[in-house]
Amino acid sequence: MSPVSPVSDNAFTARLRQFEGRTVGPPERGADAVNQAMIRHWVEAVGDDNPVYTDADAARASVHGDIVSPPVMLQAWVMRGVRPRPSRGGSVQDELMNLLDGAGFTSVVATNCEQEYERYVQLGDHLSTTTVIAAVSDEKTTALGVGHFVTTRVDYRTDDDELVGTMRFRILKFRPGTGRGAQPAAEPEAAAPPRPPRPRPAVTPDNAFWFEAAREHRLVIQRCGGCGRLRHPPRTRCGECGSYEWDAREAKGTGAVYSFVVNHYPQVPAFDYPLAVGLIELDEGTRLVANVVGIEPSAIEVGMRVVVEWEEHDSDLSLPAFRPVADGSAP
Ligand code: ZN
Repeated sequence: MSPVSPVSDNAFTARLRQFEGRTVGPPERGADAVNQAMIRHWVEAVGDDNPVYTDADAARASVHGDIVSPPVMLQAWVMRGVRPRPSRGGSVQDELMNLLDGAGFTSVVATNCEQEYERYVQLGDHLSTTTVIAAVSDEKTTALGVGHFVTTRVDYRTDDDELVGTMRFRILKFRPGTGRGAQPAAEPEAAAPPRPPRPRPAVTPDNAFWFEAAREHRLVIQRCGGCGRLRHPPRTRCGECGSYEWDAREAKGTGAVYSFVVNHYPQVPAFDYPLAVGLIELDEGTRLVANVVGIEPSAIEVGMRVVVEWEEHDSDLSLPAFRPVADGSAP
């Protein structure tokens, strides 16, 4: 595994390591079996109109043979609901968190979530989860603070004990006030520390063309070579006609705010806060996530007309942002 690091308290790390491989508690069974109503609410909320999730005839004619649940709904089938269940007493996870809290690692932030699917979940499957502490890291120094990463693995099984999916969920438990942003300046007049680079987007063979065009300040949209449908974010294959052929067309750069959020916390050093993040619907019909600039976040409204402008974050990273324009004045 990882090489031994010069941590200040190897004994403490060794205690944390003893949690690795321990099961957190008894299996937890979802309140409801996989059902059509919850699937329908989900796909309406996320705007996924694939008929294999809701149309029995279309599903029967598909490779699935019957209605299936969207894979990313996995966790929805075991959610505890708004009201927490009565406490079962200290779980292994509580024990680990208490140990970290006691050592001063009282802050927490979720850092990664990865899911793997063994098969599609179908109507009537009733899922239960088993959670294991998969890994506890050495002490790490991060931008947020000094802390330990804790990874849990959740296995999702049917009543027949068939494994249908796995989720790895990683958090950082850290000491507040020990992050790079919290270091007091040597002198009051000291220059601000250099701004850390913006996190790199996940560039893949499927979406590299989009980021390359962005570097040239061109906003492009992937277009299916089979049926001509536009799609974003870029994908290998057309969800409409199944074609793998595609090219890209240039967007006009005008659109409207379809939805937005204003982030205040947690604050990542490469960004300015409050950070307005919009879901922009381009006039061509596709939507993309981009910062909304040139306006007080409190004044942003759904439906507001916007136009693209380009932000050069680094020598190799340009991203579109959108600025409001008066109705009718869009180019
Ligand atoms: Zn197509």
